[in-house]
Amino acid sequence: MFINEDYINGLLEQARGASKEEIQQVLKKAEKRAGLSHKDIAVLLQIEDEKQLKEMYKLAGEIKESIYGKRIVIFAPLYVSDYCVNNCVYCGYKRCNKFTRRKLTQEEVAEEVRLLEKMGHKRIALELGEDPVNNPIEYVIECLDTIYKTQNSNGEIRRANVNIAATTVDNYRRLKEAGIGTYILFQETYHKPTYEFMHPKSIKGNYDYHTTAFDRAMEGGIDDVGAGVLFGLADPKFEVLGLMIHNEHLEEKFGVGFHTISVPRLKPAEGMNLKDFPHLLRDEEFKKIVAVIRIAVPFTGIILSTRENEDMRRELLKYGVSQMSAGSSTGVGGYKAREAGESVEQFKTSDERAPLDILKELIGDGYIPSYCTACYRMGRTGDRFMSLAKSGNIQYVCEPNALTTLMEYALDYGDEELRKKTEALIKARSEEISRDDIKRIVIDNVKKLKAGERDLYL
Ligand code: SAM
Repeated sequence: MFINEDYINGLLEQARGASKEEIQQVLKKAEKRAGLSHKDIAVLLQIEDEKQLKEMYKLAGEIKESIYGKRIVIFAPLYVSDYCVNNCVYCGYKRCNKFTRRKLTQEEVAEEVRLLEKMGHKRIALELGEDPVNNPIEYVIECLDTIYKTQNSNGEIRRANVNIAATTVDNYRRLKEAGIGTYILFQETYHKPTYEFMHPKSIKGNYDYHTTAFDRAMEGGIDDVGAGVLFGLADPKFEVLGLMIHNEHLEEKFGVGFHTISVPRLKPAEGMNLKDFPHLLRDEEFKKIVAVIRIAVPFTGIILSTRENEDMRRELLKYGVSQMSAGSSTGVGGYKAREAGESVEQFKTSDERAPLDILKELIGDGYIPSYCTACYRMGRTGDRFMSLAKSGNIQYVCEPNALTTLMEYALDYGDEELRKKTEALIKARSEEISRDDIKRIVIDNVKKLKAGERDLYL
């Protein structure tokens, strides 16, 4: 097993005594974009001094901007089944919670997809519990087929990421063939004793099988994998080092690490009490964790969900978050239920705003909300994506795509105010594009979209 508890504890122990001068040296090293060692990352996690924290946030923001520019990718989750054989201590879907479980029929999946499309979404994360009988891989594949086939006037889902439990190489191969975007699996915790305590007597309780899931996914041909830790289960500093070591393991073995890292924090759910979790993360600690991840793995997207409230989401965009969900429901059939004024959730969400309002705020704050799904449709996945990102040429692809997809959203789902803001943003940004050919593409795309063309990308 590539995660070694004693090794991580040793790093944390050593870093605990780091002096201000030692911390400053690591900040300097990070500023020069020199690769950070595990020990360096452990040292950054120790920062408490206000001045040094500010310096680290500033650096994380600069790194983020130099790689991602102002783009923020928007998506929403789609829950299709809450059947689950596991008994995860923290989860509302645990098997000992007694409620009427649901699994959507394909017609119901299509209904949810149409509602997501009506909000303007192009990218979703498909979510379901683990249940080999009720949710076999065939069901997941059927759902993917329905998602991609279901269109609603100009609406269509162009990228479906999938968050299902650890499975076999063969099943990963089938998911790949079904056209998934990223395969997402949260480790929950890298700390094995905590992992085993949190996942009692269940399929998910096998730490080694769960932790090696991405190895099997990559063997099955999936090269975009999205990791995550459920912050609040164990020591967050241990988790960050676990993430880094896991990422390196994949880089060494397959030539590419995580495409994204999600940073969910534990939220209240049915059948659990937050008071029973001694490692809950304070806001300040959480911000620090996100900044350290951004500095440690600059090319890996960081995803933030609506578990966080508006203020936290706004702040974390500055330190490293590059993708966020919007208008989310975390319940099976939740989008239809919301239209009917009902709500069924896996856990509590904190940002209930509609995508339109979130987009207005993002644009007001200088960001470019993006509905781009071009990379994986152009075969830019895995190491091909990473080499484009690392070469810096991604700016000539991503920004035009972001601006074009935002314009498409504004025309189909925006109001007058958003359309005006979008046009002004596109005008300002395209003036800044240094290559004339790329500038021309953006201007032409706007014209084509206004003339009725859709789904334009590089
Ligand atoms: N069933 C799949 C699996 O086993 O990996 C994943 C789907 S689950 C719908 C998605 C994620 O929700 C879990 O991996 C977990 O991290 C997160 N989650 C569960 N309970 C939560 C809670 N109370 N607060 C915040 N996130 C939670």
